Amino acid sequence: MTDQRRIIARVLSEAQDHPDVELLHRRAAQVDPGISLATAYRTVRLFEEASILERRDFGDGRARYEEAKDDHHDHLIDIQSGRVIEFTNEQIERLQQGVAAELGYRLVGHRLELYAVPIGKEAASDAETQGIAKHKRAAHSGGGEK
Ligand SMILES: [Zn+2]
Repeated sequence: MTDQRRIIARVLSEAQDHPDVELLHRRAAQVDPGISLATAYRTVRLFEEASILERRDFGDGRARYEEAKDDHHDHLIDIQSGRVIEFTNEQIERLQQGVAAELGYRLVGHRLELYAVPIGKEAASDAETQGIAKHKRAAHSGGGEK
């Protein structure tokens, strides 16, 4: 792998959000100003073909990218702020497997994007976002009543 590709790979793996290629390029160019936008596009396409990263479509016509990982998650997109929240939901996973099975299929993958607006005036805080991701763990330690 060339140094420039290595830098782009690192920027992508450090990203906590879901950057598009322009944003990825801006970040990579801060490390090495010699990295061109064309190189960023070429590298992203290469990584996508190699399944190093996954392309996401959040409904605004811009392809976003994130590092391909083993752990599956879905996305909720705040259509007011553009913020993207990652979540997993066991019920949804099971439901989808059930739907596929009823149609005579074994599910091997899916994509789910929820488009939403925040309830009330304020968008969910970061703490609440974490709460969704950690919901299952919290439920165990939450001292629920019988
Ligand atoms: Zn994601």
